Amino acid sequence: MVPNTILYNGKIATNGTPRFVEAVAIEDGKITAIGTDGEVLALQGPSTKLIDLKRHTAIPGLNDSHIHTIRGGLNFNMELRWDGVPSLADALSMLKEQAQRTAPPQWVRVVGGWNEFQFAERRMPTIAEINEAAPEVPVFVLHLYDRAWLNGAALRAVGYTKGNVPSFPAGEVEYDSNGNPTGMIIAKPNANILYSTLAKGPKLSHEDQLNSTRLFMRELNRFGLTSAIDAGGGFQNFPDDYEVINELHKSGDMSLRIAYNLFTQKPKQELSDFQRWTGMVKPGQGDDYFRVNGAGEMLVFSAADFEDFLVERPDVPAVMEGELEAVVRHLAENRWPFRLHATYDETISHALNVYERVNRDVPLEGLHWFFDHCETVSERNLERIKALGGGIAIQNRMAFQGEYFVDRYGKQQAAHTPPIRKMLELGISVGAGTDATRVSSYNPFLSLYWLITGKTVGGLGLYPQENRMSSEEALRLYTIGSSWFSSEDGKKGSIAVGQFADLAVLSADFFTIPEEDIRDLESVLTVTGGKVVYAADNFEPLAPPSLPVSPDWSPVKTYGGYAKNNLYPAAVHARTQQPVAQTAHRHRYVQSDGGVWSLGCDCFAF
Ligand SMILES: [Zn+2]
Ligand SMILES: [Zn+2]
Repeated sequence: MVPNTILYNGKIATNGTPRFVEAVAIEDGKITAIGTDGEVLALQGPSTKLIDLKRHTAIPGLNDSHIHTIRGGLNFNMELRWDGVPSLADALSMLKEQAQRTAPPQWVRVVGGWNEFQFAERRMPTIAEINEAAPEVPVFVLHLYDRAWLNGAALRAVGYTKGNVPSFPAGEVEYDSNGNPTGMIIAKPNANILYSTLAKGPKLSHEDQLNSTRLFMRELNRFGLTSAIDAGGGFQNFPDDYEVINELHKSGDMSLRIAYNLFTQKPKQELSDFQRWTGMVKPGQGDDYFRVNGAGEMLVFSAADFEDFLVERPDVPAVMEGELEAVVRHLAENRWPFRLHATYDETISHALNVYERVNRDVPLEGLHWFFDHCETVSERNLERIKALGGGIAIQNRMAFQGEYFVDRYGKQQAAHTPPIRKMLELGISVGAGTDATRVSSYNPFLSLYWLITGKTVGGLGLYPQENRMSSEEALRLYTIGSSWFSSEDGKKGSIAVGQFADLAVLSADFFTIPEEDIRDLESVLTVTGGKVVYAADNFEPLAPPSLPVSPDWSPVKTYGGYAKNNLYPAAVHARTQQPVAQTAHRHRYVQSDGGVWSLGCDCFAF
């Protein structure tokens, strides 16, 4: 067999033995050989495409086992991302610029992925600053799961005016002394107030949603992601909100493999949602690029414990076990894998009571069911999860909320929140991820940084050495580990013969660079199924055709997504102590929408 492609002269981490190889051969989307340059290059034929990795480090493609990709894709082009922006001053000036580019009734929206601890100023914006930056166009800024700010124009657009504000369960609207809403709305602790207000904004057109989803997948490819397990989401209803991703799958435009879980949208009628869906689709239905994975992360609304560490832990209501049992019994009887959002040990105890009862009648064995998050899970419950054959998908939510957690529960409790080492010692299946896009950023290197250093994005050290991962361990969780969660273990996660040709060539050597630099890593060449889906720097000539951003006012056109270091030379200068000139913004000619070549910069070149 003659390979279609050979990548050679690299330091390619296999996640197996040997740990590194120099070259890999690919045919029909799968890996057909690995080894030394000599061994693999000997397989080439006249039609083989050769890619010289120039000694770069490559890793198996990353797999985020909990991300709201499909919903994120529908919205990406509407969102101004503050992810990775180093100062509030920068963030507010972006907001001001974007407000001038956006015409009402469109909004400017900053929907999570940032916190105040990443900013040099270490504070959130004020409503006055937001109003000053954007006096006319509606603005919605979401902070984690706890609050959002609406400027005056947004308050008018959603109709929250004096005497006309709807009441929200476990949510609060702030008022000034005259009884006018100030623009700040707060989850106490139910985030419904935030999401239902956000849902009042206009949506993109179908065409723009197609473009937005493709750009979001490409943005994830930029960070070496080749797979994701989608956790559904509020206001992400099946099948209505899956038309766009279905269409992209049909047209062969998936640059990221997605397995997706179905999330109930109906409080008190959850069972009817799942009865309908189990009659419509089957787990595993689809193909290696787009497939049904099962149910969750919302199975019943009464089980939802919001992870807002600024407020006390919510108690699950008494009806939770009964409601959850009806749903889980139905899913188990239909052999549907399920996942459940659970932040706190108390919630997990109730869910395990249910799972143990169901398991007595309908064995869960082999179902690849799992919990999501599990920040405060106890050892006793870890043993119960292990006994039932379940897994745990962990995310770096503590990297965004660790400071709040420490304030409320103390450093000692934070040291094993979540107890990752204990999970691994017990032999539980563990997958890694982010839970992006509304609390954490989607950048997987922030999550790998958190796993390896034990630090928050603001630099607070949370974990002692024993609860931190080596770079090899962290990478395994983000690849092989995550593959179990879509029942695709053995098909991906390693550079091994027979596995999918999914890999990422990195901007620096993940295994040897100083730990602090891990969060600055990006991919320079991402390959999904043997196809180059993203390429930059030296590899740019291999890049797929650029995708012009639509609509024209999209913040993505100007800023891309996650902040590029070179957009903020002053901040990078402060952090690395390098001369600004070395990190200064590189300009090049890019094609603008009018077809005119103009001076632009690579931040805009999608
Ligand atoms: Zn969740
Ligand atoms: Zn989630």
